Amino acid sequence: MDEDLVESEAGFAGLGLRPELLRALLSLGYEEPTPIQREAIPPVLAGHDLVGQAATGTGKTAAFALPILQALTAERTAGPQALALVPTRELAEQVSQAVHRYGRELNVRVLPVYGGQPIGRQLQALSRGVQVVVGTPGRVLDHISRGTLDLSDVRTVVLDEADEMLDMGFAEDIEAILAETPAERQTVLFSATMPPRIDAIARRHLREPVRIQMAREDVAPGEMPLVRQSAYVVGRPYKAAALGRILDVEAPTAAIVFCRTREEVDSVTEALNGRGYRAEALHGGMSQDQRDRVMGRLRGGSTELLVATDVAARGLDVEQLTHVINFNVPSAPEAYVHRIGRVGRAGREGVAITLAEPREQRMLKAIERLIGRRIPIERLPTVTDLRARRLELTRATLQNALEDDDLERFRVVIDSLTDDHDIETVALAAVKLLHEAAGGDVDEAEIPSPAPARRDKETRQRPTDSGVTRLFVGIGRRAGLRPQDLVGAIAGESGLPARDVGAIQITDRFSLVEVPDSAADRVIKALSRATIRGRRPTVRRERPNR
Ligand code: AMP
Repeated sequence: MDEDLVESEAGFAGLGLRPELLRALLSLGYEEPTPIQREAIPPVLAGHDLVGQAATGTGKTAAFALPILQALTAERTAGPQALALVPTRELAEQVSQAVHRYGRELNVRVLPVYGGQPIGRQLQALSRGVQVVVGTPGRVLDHISRGTLDLSDVRTVVLDEADEMLDMGFAEDIEAILAETPAERQTVLFSATMPPRIDAIARRHLREPVRIQMAREDVAPGEMPLVRQSAYVVGRPYKAAALGRILDVEAPTAAIVFCRTREEVDSVTEALNGRGYRAEALHGGMSQDQRDRVMGRLRGGSTELLVATDVAARGLDVEQLTHVINFNVPSAPEAYVHRIGRVGRAGREGVAITLAEPREQRMLKAIERLIGRRIPIERLPTVTDLRARRLELTRATLQNALEDDDLERFRVVIDSLTDDHDIETVALAAVKLLHEAAGGDVDEAEIPSPAPARRDKETRQRPTDSGVTRLFVGIGRRAGLRPQDLVGAIAGESGLPARDVGAIQITDRFSLVEVPDSAADRVIKALSRATIRGRRPTVRRERPNR
């Protein structure tokens, strides 16, 4: 069925993409275009300039990468045929990898260029000839002035995350780079926000652009079911582990976990089954029959977790559903509303949880605007939380058993053991056995709080609002430290308001304290000079133990 979908009018084929690209998308497990792709790909393919308002997580990369790939010609040109400018080195690598993946069958030659990477390797690759360059403005300009990058063959220029680039002070570099490209080029601009400065750039450098804004269906307040909503910010490598923990703590009766692609569905299902859940995959690659059977097992209670793509879960209605979990921020705010509409029906309690990568937090904001409600960002359960939770489950299991009326037959065991041991020790051993039979203690590494987005070396550091940084402070309970001492020292020495100081954990010899990312450096500097309970402790970022 997946093949039908990709090749159908509703799928990517309906957008006019060539077979090599369709096959690449199919093998990546993309089931259908995201809204921004549906709207942007046809006009860009037709050669129009375009201004698109879209943040990370909407699928905007494919929205410009696929048309670029479609238009590539095999003939050798002196310089690249397409140039994408992006604000950070991280994004340069990400976009370049995406172009490479989508263009696999076309053997596309794509090169990321950014500061901080040895220029020699870039020079070599450039001299061998590349078709697409993805770079940060500073380094691209560098190559132009060295004469190592010839932009005279460029047919399409993309300005990706244009607002970020302006914020980082790249406006003049962008102007200078555009001046080196042919006047008749196609220009595509994507930006999460549309401040007047972006408009000015679009007016100066784009020709009658098609304008696309993610549709804003207004949701009437009454339409939003009463659902407890929250989000967690997690770095990509830790998402599966984070999901496992959240499920451990939430203990849903029946939940659906939404993923972007079939591959993601499969790997998440596997990870959850490895953690002892009864999880089943549901995606467009399965026959209707298979899907019906999976649904039956969920309704019957023999499956507790369904891991699905949007396409596969369309129209799905399960009464028992208590939790909707978004493994990624949905690519359109409206999709979020549709997904969470599956829980909290008929006055029952529902829970919606979203995992967001640090870069996807803007999409969360867009969702908040649409639903007119804040989605609080929660702290991931720590190993300590998990241990406490498991002990609590063991306690609850025992509590239940205490109400059973067939306990008497075990009295002979107690009686024979209490000859040599006191009864409390016997009880402790029994609890231990029960606890271990139920999975035992948690034995896993802490998940680090996401580091602030890495900025290109050539760019200026800008405070991000992406979350919190955990600091290590080398003083603890043994020195008589109390939470208020830490808050007092931080507020007094760095000027950070006490209410901005987050979770504090005090151990015997050291403490961990959360502060906003944007204040971390300032707090470290200020605390390093401070005396706390007569000492001058080490203060640094926490080093996650992986
Ligand atoms: P972007 O907004 O371009 O950063 O893309 C966000 C994520 O969505 C990336 O991991 C893409 O691989 C994924 N993605 C993009 N388009 C689709 C699609 N049509 N179906 C499923 N996943 C997609």
